[in-house]
Parts: sequence; structure tokens; C-alpha cells
Amino acid sequence: MNNLSSEVDWPLKHDPADVDRLLRSCAALQRRADGEQGVIAIRHIAAGSTLIHGWHDAFYLGMAGWVALTVPEIDALPPGQRALFHRYGLDMDFGTIFGPLDVIHVTTLDNFINHSCEPNLGYDHHGNVVSRRSLAPGEELLIDYGEFVVNYDEPFTCRCGANSCRTNVTRNDWHHLRSRRRLPPFIERRLERRA
Ligand SMILES: [Zn+2]
Repeated sequence: MNNLSSEVDWPLKHDPADVDRLLRSCAALQRRADGEQGVIAIRHIAAGSTLIHGWHDAFYLGMAGWVALTVPEIDALPPGQRALFHRYGLDMDFGTIFGPLDVIHVTTLDNFINHSCEPNLGYDHHGNVVSRRSLAPGEELLIDYGEFVVNYDEPFTCRCGANSCRTNVTRNDWHHLRSRRRLPPFIERRLERRA
């Protein structure tokens, strides 16, 4: 049952307004009670709804101002650009991150989804980001960064409040999460090659 993905015949072009349409149809950037920004459900989201198609594959390919850089290339960026890449870049593979060259290119809502160690978003077997349970209007959409971060440790201290909170998100968390969560395709492919 996927009432969201059926609304959109997914385009191959990468106009942010199109690529972002699914997520924006059910969520918006809002201030949380603690003053931080978050992506909040603006209507009921059924369990298993597709929210982001091919996040680590097709989503950013061809998006204006976004480029794939290797870890050494990122390390060699000027400090401001490097910080931007670390903040908004998305791991596409081991050694490769897709990120924005300027903050004006940070236009899609997925950039603002916060981390939780007990996320309500996850991946389906196509690598789409889906809701792991139903969400009510007003609930924040949360994803576990440890499921897809493989190149750099995250700098923040997690205060998600979950019993299972790991406090820090590292580039090695996926090793432990793989037994109980589906991971994005570029990690699943590596695990298959090793099996
Ligand atoms: Zn946590």
C-alpha cells in the first residue's frame, strides 16, 4: 500500500521542485519546540509510504550546483566549502559524497531531516526512503544517519532520547545496524560482494 508514490509518475529530470514533490506533499520545514529546525509531517503518512526516491542514487544526479567529490577532493576544499559539503553532502558510495558547491543550491527538503537513533524513516529494497511506521501530522521525520554515513564521523552529540541512543554517529555504525535495518543500495551491494 503506497498511496504517496502512486501520485507521482517519477520524472528522470532533476528539477528540485519535481524531485522533492513527494516529501513536500506530506512534510514541511518547521521550528520544533526546542527552536531547532526539523522536517515535520503536515498530514497523516501511512506506514511504508515512499518519501524520497533513490536518495543515494538518482536523487541528486544532475541537480544544479551539486557535484560528486572524493574524500581527498573534499579534504582539499577551502574551509567554507568543505564545511558546507560536510553539512549537506550525502554519501553516495565508499569514498564519494554528493554535495552542494554553494548554500544557494541547498533547496530540497531532505537536507533538513534530522537524525535519530530510533528513526521513523528507513529504506525499502529499492533504496527509496520510506516511513517505517505511520506518522501523525506534527510528528518530526527522522532518519538514522548511521545507516548511510560511511566517509566521515558526524560531529554532533545525539540527544534523541531513545533507549538505544548511541550518543555519537560514526562512519562505522552501519556495521552494527546491518543486522536489524535495511541499508542503502551502495552498502547492501558491498555486503553482497563480501558474502
Ligand atoms: Zn541518539
